[in-house]
Amino acid sequence: MMKTSEMHLCKVAKPPLERKWYKCPYCQKAALIYDNTAVCSGVFMKCKFCKREFEIKI
Ligand SMILES: [Zn+2]
Repeated sequence: MMKTSEMHLCKVAKPPLERKWYKCPYCQKAALIYDNTAVCSGVFMKCKFCKREFEIKI
């Protein structure tokens, strides 16, 4: 038995994913990457550059 699952995954047509940077609203530095399928609510993160906390609204 050969393991073909990894090869198979590469051939599956995926919907086009658009990856974007979510920028810190205070210092405008790139905080995280999300794609166009992301749904986010009530998630907060602390910017590693300016150390301020902000809500991620996608
Ligand atoms: Zn920042």
